Amino acid sequence: MLQPAAIDGLAFVRAAGALKGRLGIETLPRLAQSGCSASVLDFVLTGAINERGKPELRLAVQGSVRLQCQRCLGNMDFPLRFEAQLELATTEAEILAADDDVERVVAGREMKVAGLVEDEVILALPMVPKHEQCRAAEESGGGAKPSAFEALAALKKRSSSGG
Ligand SMILES: [Zn+2]
Repeated sequence: MLQPAAIDGLAFVRAAGALKGRLGIETLPRLAQSGCSASVLDFVLTGAINERGKPELRLAVQGSVRLQCQRCLGNMDFPLRFEAQLELATTEAEILAADDDVERVVAGREMKVAGLVEDEVILALPMVPKHEQCRAAEESGGGAKPSAFEALAALKKRSSSGG
């Protein structure tokens, strides 16, 4: 079954719509531009009326994207798992006038599903991606001084992995 590429926001909420899919990097051009080289993202998009009585889209995303570590410039697979709620507003002005932390988008008749997912994924990514345990940091000896045992283990590893 083919997934629709776009939804009519308000109709989707009225119908209590639900949409499931998987997106690869080829459908996420802005993510690709931001230095992401691969991704597989599964999403579930549902429409509902929220606790304020407003129509909203709920998006759950799970998967991973490949980023470039800004310290060693190596590849880094960044796992993603989050849920977002997007209240549908009628106009851009309504969004600007709102004085709260609610995330809103203008309801459209053709809201691109990949674009909605992409927006939220971009928000969820680190500003400066870095390995949690980066090779570059180890080699430059930055940070905490390694204990004698750690230094010994590192030496062993280096001599045993010669090649
Ligand atoms: Zn790194």
